[in-house]
Amino acid sequence: MESLLCKTDKDLMSILSLDKPFQARIIRDNLIKGVTSFDEMTSLPKALRERLSKERGSALTGRIIRKEEADSTVKIAVSFPDGAIIECVRLSDGAGRYTACLSSQVGCAMGCAFCKTGTMGLIRNLTAGEIVEEFILLSLLGERISHIVFMGMGEALHNFTASIDAAMDLHRESGFDISFRKMTISTCGLVPGINKLTELDIPIRLAVSLVSADDDIRSDIMKVNRSYPLKELKDALLRFQHHQDRRLTLEYCMLSGVNTDRKSAEQLASFVKGLDALVNLIPWNPIPELGFRTPSEEEIRQFEKDLKSLGINYTIRRSKGRSISGACGQLATEARKN
Ligand code: SF4
Repeated sequence: MESLLCKTDKDLMSILSLDKPFQARIIRDNLIKGVTSFDEMTSLPKALRERLSKERGSALTGRIIRKEEADSTVKIAVSFPDGAIIECVRLSDGAGRYTACLSSQVGCAMGCAFCKTGTMGLIRNLTAGEIVEEFILLSLLGERISHIVFMGMGEALHNFTASIDAAMDLHRESGFDISFRKMTISTCGLVPGINKLTELDIPIRLAVSLVSADDDIRSDIMKVNRSYPLKELKDALLRFQHHQDRRLTLEYCMLSGVNTDRKSAEQLASFVKGLDALVNLIPWNPIPELGFRTPSEEEIRQFEKDLKSLGINYTIRRSKGRSISGACGQLATEARKN
């Protein structure tokens, strides 16, 4: 069953066998307002509401099958009619700002060694409509969501068209009206995707999961680096920044004994040179089966000192939601690739 989001009036008319374009518009307007039951779309004729309810149940194809909450982070698992299950998260900054962390794929093909999603393999891409459904389902939890990060399961730029179509839909003024400036697309460093994003020339933010500025270490733990090594990545980021003039985020997942020594800090400083970038340190969130270690407080403090002495702009993200596996790199669902 196809999602009804990110569709034109014509598409909706054909999918739902509607007679009139205004009926499609009513359905879309209701979905934007979070009305997901056809029965409650009272501007539609009663007979039509009854038929649609009977044929489709809800106006969304995704269904929340699990909800967990900790540290003001809420993680939901969403199941789609073909059995695909993804997770997405609503994050809070504690001061009334809510961010939706959306998945773009069921699983992920990139296989980064520190990430639980990577262990699933790629099961399938999500459609743009399914990605927008995640946003609606997270919004229905009760708070107004103002920011979006494409940092859930999957590599958003590996599902480029659907991710961008979803971002466009979420941005549309007559729809969810979220500014591109409040959206961030995260990538593990897929250079062709970054180049396409540069060409699109929309003011969406970009975050790159860097993890190491040493080609050997990065290639070891992030397969993407074997195809697009650091020099190519940096060139792509320089082009992106030349076009966009927007600060980048470099996510730096801290792995004890792997990327937290002085040499790593110096390599990071050399990678950052010439970029307007903020390094976001993320002490690795434990996933027992992956065999890495979270750095100790002392290791973290020493690395921070090194970054300061090298003049690197950084912040540190103390991940919320660890206890519900809703933190960075911890999302994964049961459905694994066979
Ligand atoms: Fe995929 Fe991102 Fe995990 Fe890498 S870190 S495996 S790109 S979800």
